[in-house]
Formats: sequence, C-alpha cells, structure tokens
Amino acid sequence: MSTIVIKGGTMIDGTGKPPVENAVVVVEDDKIAAVGRANEVKVPEGEKVKVIDASGKTVMPGLIDSHVHIYTDGEAGDEFTSMFLKNNPLSLTLRCIPRLKKTLEMGITSLKDGGCGWNWLEVALRDALNRGDIVGPRYFAAGYHLTVTGGHGYFLPPWLANIPIHPEQSTVHVDGPDQWRKMARMNIYNGTDFIKLVASRDVISPGIATAAQATLEELTAAAEEAHKMGKKVMIHAQGPVAIKNAIKAGADIIVHGFFMDEECAEMMVENNVILEGTNWYVRVIAEKGAGRVPDWQLEKAIQTWEFRKKNFKMLMEKGVKMSFGSDAGCPFIRQGYDNFNELRMFVELGMTPMQALVAGTKTAAEAIGIEDKTGTLESGKFADILLIDGDPLKDISILGQEEKIKMVMKEGEIVVTR
Ligand SMILES: [Zn+2]
Repeated sequence: MSTIVIKGGTMIDGTGKPPVENAVVVVEDDKIAAVGRANEVKVPEGEKVKVIDASGKTVMPGLIDSHVHIYTDGEAGDEFTSMFLKNNPLSLTLRCIPRLKKTLEMGITSLKDGGCGWNWLEVALRDALNRGDIVGPRYFAAGYHLTVTGGHGYFLPPWLANIPIHPEQSTVHVDGPDQWRKMARMNIYNGTDFIKLVASRDVISPGIATAAQATLEELTAAAEEAHKMGKKVMIHAQGPVAIKNAIKAGADIIVHGFFMDEECAEMMVENNVILEGTNWYVRVIAEKGAGRVPDWQLEKAIQTWEFRKKNFKMLMEKGVKMSFGSDAGCPFIRQGYDNFNELRMFVELGMTPMQALVAGTKTAAEAIGIEDKTGTLESGKFADILLIDGDPLKDISILGQEEKIKMVMKEGEIVVTR
C-alpha cells in the first residue's frame, strides 16, 4: 500500500464550505483515507510514507469539465467546417491524444464529452485511457449528436448530407421518434456513456438560434432509450420552447440555455436539471470572431452574450444548478489551455469564486453522475487532488496558469509536479 500525506496547505474541499488552513489530506493508494485540520487527522508515519509540504499553497479537488468536444481544438469558420477534408476518424483520434494529456496536466481530472461522432472516436479514447494506454482525465463519451435534418450540429453542405451516418461528422440526421430512438440505441450499442440531443438551432448554425426544431416526441423517444439503459441525457437547447421541450422529454442536463426565462429556470430546479452554461463559448466568439467567423455568427454571439449577462443573476437567484462546461474545442477554445475561462466567466457574471469552484468540482461531478467517487476532498473518494500556488478565491484565473498548478494527482498517482 502506498501512503501520501499532503500537509500544511489551505484546503478548499469542493463542497462550498470555507477553506481550512493548515489542512492534512491522507492518500492511501488511489483513495483519500482522511482529511481535515492538522490537529484532527491522525497522520500516518514511517519510512514508506511520502510527505508533501503544501505550505503557502491551496489544496483542492481536481477540476471537472463536464462539457468539451475533444475532436476539435478551437478551429473557427471554414477551418472548422472543412475538417472533414483534412481528417479521417483515425487521424483525428490520434490528434486527440495530446489534447487529453494537456487537459489533465492543467488540473482537469475528469472530463465529459458533449459529443464527437467521427466513428465513435470518444469510445476508443475512453477505453484506451481506462487501459492506461494513453494519459488523460477520467473521460466520458457521448457519440453522435442527434439532430433533425438540417438541424444544428450538422456541418456538411446539403449535397454531402445524403448518407445516413456520415462518419466524418459529429452529428447524425434523424427524423421522427422511431429514428431518434434507433440512433440513441445505436450510440449506446457503440459504447457511449451519455446521449446528446439537439433541440434547437444555435449561435454557430445559421438561422434563428432559438428555433425549436426537434419535436417533443422525438426528444422523448431518444431520452427514454437512454434512461432505460441508465444513461443520462444532455440536450442542447437555446430558447424557452426548446428548453421546456427538453425538460419535459426528461433532460438531465441542458446545454447552453442562453435564452432561458424564469419559467424555464423554475422547471430546471423542480426537475433537478443541471445547466452547462458554456458562457465563454459565445463570449470568445464575440471577442475574437471579427473577420474569422461569418458576420452573422459574430452578430449572434454578441447578442447572445448580452442576453446572458442579463439572465445569469436570475438563474442564480432561482437556484439553477450550474456545472463547469467549457465547450473546449469550439471556436477559439483550445483543449487544456482555455477550459479555465469558463470559471472566469462564472465570476464575471456574478458567482463568487467559491461558487465557481463548486460548479467546477462537486456540481460537475453530479452532471456526470460520479459524485460518489470524486468532486470533493472527502474520505473514501478518489484522490484527485491539485496543489495550486496562490489562492483561486482571490483570483480564479490562476487556474489557467500552468506554472501555478504545482501538482496534479489523479487516483493517487502524481501526474505532474512543477
Ligand atoms: Zn458543446
């Protein structure tokens, strides 16, 4: 048995409780054996015990990003829509390997994909990670997005869109409850952990972003199949109609929800649905998109960001649970390097840094369904632990500064020390 004692640091445990100074975390093999103030924890001694001095540093749980798309790496405009000309699923899979490694090295120890498609490359990556063939966070797969013909997520032009499942795509066209049901089954058959449905258009797809294209019957059929197999359902939805359809269909997670009204927010709380708000996703297009994305996309991103600035406080007041979902991979959001920006957005939009950290640990674990295994520093949970040089409660953006992330531990194993 290996024992590691991390002592002397200021601990933020991920539950939202105030920080604990001079804390001790005892790690035995892959789990946390004990945690608390120095005078409350029995500290193991002996030659074989490795002691890490965390004085002057913050000890916190590994971050959990519950929404990325690992097949992309910030490509924008034509560079994004022409990806299918430059890659096949195999070449793209290999390009994901260093992205996963970088993500872990930046302190993200669990990661949920929001859907890649591309011949279910996520499943192959997840299995390779679990076998230890490659290095990265604990990772969860969603497979192909389901969308109606011409719906958001399908980026090939119409003259290339007549093949039922085009491998070089993140999304598949399905119409009518039977096809939605069949495709949900197909994703599960291919080994996905989640099902991702598209209930409305979007900022980066032309047309009205809030248009609720998928019907309630279509969403319900796919969600039902997922739930039968114990899989959670995340639903992309922008406007109130699509969001309400998604919740009625049984969504566990709403993705984006930019134009959420009060009624939607109340339904979210009543049904215990988590929001993956992906705020940086529109903010960054508004900031960097000029000349690099089509004008309509830039315009919609600016409008959407303005709207989110107005409704974010309402979402917090209503008690909508929000999870850290960076949408890394989307335009201008590099895997590993840029995920932390979403935590920065939470604070900019009105959360306290502590609330942002809870969204990035405990709540994100709930969004994935791994809250009994990780997300907080509590005995019995996996030892997914970070040592940070500085105080993220004073400046959340230090979580994006590589040199400040002094140690990343995943399941008791020290992956990085700096
Ligand atoms: Zn997404």
